[in-house]
Amino acid sequence: MTAEQAPAGIEEMGEGPDYVRLALLATILVALIGFLVYTRFINPPKKPFYAELPGISLAGIAEPQKTQIVKLANAAPCDCGYAGCDNWNVAECRNLDPGCDVSLKIAAAIVQKETGKPAVLTVKMPDARTPTPAPSGAPKKSGSMERHAGCDCAAK
Ligand SMILES: [Zn+2]
Repeated sequence: MTAEQAPAGIEEMGEGPDYVRLALLATILVALIGFLVYTRFINPPKKPFYAELPGISLAGIAEPQKTQIVKLANAAPCDCGYAGCDNWNVAECRNLDPGCDVSLKIAAAIVQKETGKPAVLTVKMPDARTPTPAPSGAPKKSGSMERHAGCDCAAK
């Protein structure tokens, strides 16, 4: 039995619903892509803005330098390179992971640049952090470095 022997009516009956289904699928696809483009590029979720930089005293710094320092810290990426946290900025690291020595150094450099004076640290400059080996018996984390304390990047 070949295709030509099949009754012609069956194929014709299937054409309408197939076309409708295809159009519906295309509409859903376009809507989905549009939604993704919108949320990712046009209006991405805003990161919280941090007005303080824990570890650095902003008390003695007058406006408009203080505002400028905070703005720069919220924009400067912190390149501490913790796995999964590479999108964190300096202000995020200062507020969410005070043990990050890289953000403290960058924040201090921003203060020095904006005020012309060395930054006043309220914490001791931590030693450069090295990945600590997981305690024996603890489940091994993927990646060579630990994530930031409090970072939920990998959970997303
Ligand atoms: Zn950092």
